[in-house]
Amino acid sequence: MVTNPITPTIPLNEDGTHHGFLRLPYSRDDSAWGSVMIPITVIKNGTGPTALLTGANHGDEYEGPIALMELAVTLKPEDIEGRVIIVPAMNYPAFRAGTRTSPIDRGNMNRSFPGSPSGTVTEKIADYFQTVLLPEASVVLDFHSGGKTLDFIPFASAHVLENKEQQAACVAAVEAFNAPYSMIMLEIDNVGMYDTSVEDQGKIFVTTELGGGGTSTARSNAVAKKGVRNVLKHAGIMKGELEIAPSVMLDMPDDDCFVFCCDDGMFEAMKNLGDPVEKGETVARVWPTDCTGRPSIEYHANRSGILVSRHCPGLIKSGDCMVVVAVTV
Ligand SMILES: [Zn+2]
Repeated sequence: MVTNPITPTIPLNEDGTHHGFLRLPYSRDDSAWGSVMIPITVIKNGTGPTALLTGANHGDEYEGPIALMELAVTLKPEDIEGRVIIVPAMNYPAFRAGTRTSPIDRGNMNRSFPGSPSGTVTEKIADYFQTVLLPEASVVLDFHSGGKTLDFIPFASAHVLENKEQQAACVAAVEAFNAPYSMIMLEIDNVGMYDTSVEDQGKIFVTTELGGGGTSTARSNAVAKKGVRNVLKHAGIMKGELEIAPSVMLDMPDDDCFVFCCDDGMFEAMKNLGDPVEKGETVARVWPTDCTGRPSIEYHANRSGILVSRHCPGLIKSGDCMVVVAVTV
């Protein structure tokens, strides 16, 4: 049996704060015996549950890395009981390149699970989470946002699970995260997702979509920073009261939530994120890029609800997701 080649440069199970790396050997042209050095911080105090916190599962999503870099320098062992494992950039090569997938192997981390100890760089990182870090955790928070090609209203979400007790625990953690919106999602294409591995191991899992457009905002970062602390408090790891504000509950029941583009051209949003939308209403238009005198092509909502996601940046291609409409519960 092949064991995972990643070695941590710090102890994963000692009291105190340890900053270091998950070192993954990666031999290449510019470094014969080189490594990928994935930053990790472990903060531990006594016995208690373990939280595993990750960002940049996709390399161009920034709220997670920002909130977790900050948490790694501000959270003190005396603030907690238990252990917090922080990996701000899970797909570290993608994070450094500012791209969704890894520049080394084009690996999409959230389609690479359960991974392989003898696979590509991305598969080896996935396998390390699958076999080493996840089994240690009881609560798992994985930050996402829209990256360079989508923008979202800020929400935390849990999935519809067969185990209803586990689902209820995940929903309670999502409510504790307390983003302005909270979503219960039916994941249609869940093969290879980190989410599926976490849930299959029976963990309490929170994921998010907090913004997008290839950057973050003061508002979206504030949601991330409050959310991670609330989840740690909810899990009984961090001391102190939860900070709770109103959160709108959303549902994405089926494929009618999505509007996909069938043309190439210039994208004109006809609704802002968070706007109410009626079924049949024009949500976006696509303009030709090569001439004047031709009308735009209109796209309509397949259901009523609110606009939770839109395409970025200004140009769009056939097959791209244009907008997503979710239902308020
Ligand atoms: Zn993502």
